[in-house]
Amino acid sequence: MAEINTDFGVELKKFGAFDFNACYNCGTCTAVCSLSTEEDSFPREMVRFSVLGMQDDIKSSLKPWLCYYCGECSTNCPREANPGELMMSLRRWLISKYDWTKLSGLLYKSLPLTIIAFIILATGVFAYSFYENFNLETVMHTGHIFEMVAIAAVFGVILLPNIIRMWWFIILKPGIKVPFKKYIKGFGELIVHMFTQKRTLGCNDNQLRWFEHFILVIGYLGLLITTVFLDWFSNKSLFVIILGYVVSVIIFAVTIDFVSDRIKKTKELSKYSQPSDWMFVVWLLLMGLSAFMVRLFIDTHLIENNIWLYLFHLTILVQWALVIVPFGKWTHFLYRSFAMYFEKIKA
Ligand code: SF4
Ligand code: SF4
Repeated sequence: MAEINTDFGVELKKFGAFDFNACYNCGTCTAVCSLSTEEDSFPREMVRFSVLGMQDDIKSSLKPWLCYYCGECSTNCPREANPGELMMSLRRWLISKYDWTKLSGLLYKSLPLTIIAFIILATGVFAYSFYENFNLETVMHTGHIFEMVAIAAVFGVILLPNIIRMWWFIILKPGIKVPFKKYIKGFGELIVHMFTQKRTLGCNDNQLRWFEHFILVIGYLGLLITTVFLDWFSNKSLFVIILGYVVSVIIFAVTIDFVSDRIKKTKELSKYSQPSDWMFVVWLLLMGLSAFMVRLFIDTHLIENNIWLYLFHLTILVQWALVIVPFGKWTHFLYRSFAMYFEKIKA
C-alpha cells in the first residue's frame, strides 16, 4: 500500500510549489494540457499524489518530466492551485532524490548556501591566481585543464551515478522488465531528445520557444567544443576563432531574451522564477559574454594588461561547472532526455 505523508506539502514548497492544496480535483488542468494523453495523464494525478504525500509514486513516475511547462493548466485552474509550477517543483524535488550527494536538495532549498558555495569557488580562483603571481599564461593553461577534468569528474562521479539512480527508481525498483534490445533500440530517442527537445513542439504556440532552446543547445555545445576541445583561447585557426565568436554570441543573444522574459513575467513559464532559474540564465549569459570578451581582448592584444577579465570568466566557468551543471538547473536537460528514453523503453 502506498505511503501517505501529509507533511510532504511543506517540503515541496521549499522547492517552489504554491498552494496546490487548494485543488478540488476538477480535472480541468488535465483536460487542457496539450501534452497529457490517456496513457500518461497529468497534471491532476501529480497534484493528488502531492497533496497526499505519495512520495514513492512520484519518485517512480516520469510524468513531471513529460510536462514542458507551457502553463495552460495554471491559466485555467479555477482554484489557482498553479499545477504548472507544482510540476516544476516536482522536477526540482526529483533531482534532489536522484542526486546521491544530496547537495542538489540543499542548494535548491537554501539560497545562502548557494551563495556561500559561489564565494568559496571565487575565492579559490583568486587564491590560485595569486599563488601563480597572476601569470596569465599559467592561469589560462590551468583554466583549460580544469575544463577537461571538471567535465570528466562531474559526469563520472555525479551525473552518471545519478542517472543510474533515476533508472533504479523508474525501471528496476517498480519491477518493470525491459528486454536488453529495447535499451539499444530506444537509444536514438535519447539522442534526438537531447539535441532537439522536440516534445516542446507539442505545447500550443511554442514554436519560438522550441527554436530558442534548440539554438541555445547548439550554441552551448558549440562553445563547449570550441573552448574545451579546440582550445579556443589559444587556437590560431581563423575558422575556430570565428566559430567561437559565433557560438558565444548565440548564447549571449538567447539568454538575454530568457532573462528579459523572466523580468517581464508575461509568459506563464517565466512568471515564477526560483534562484536556480535565475542562476542558470544569468551564468549562461555571463559565460557567453565573458568568453567573447576574453577572445576579443586576446585578438586586440589587450588581455596581458587585463587579466581580471580572464579571472572573471574563469570564476563564472568554475561556478557553472561545479554548482550549476551537477546540482542546478542544467540537470533538467539531462534528466528530461533520459526521461524520454525511459518512457520509450517502458512502452
Ligand atoms: S484544474 Fe486546479 S483545481 Fe482542477 S484538478 Fe487541476 S489543479 Fe486541481
Ligand atoms: S504546464 Fe503545460 S505541459 Fe505542464 S502540465 Fe501544465 S499544461 Fe501540461
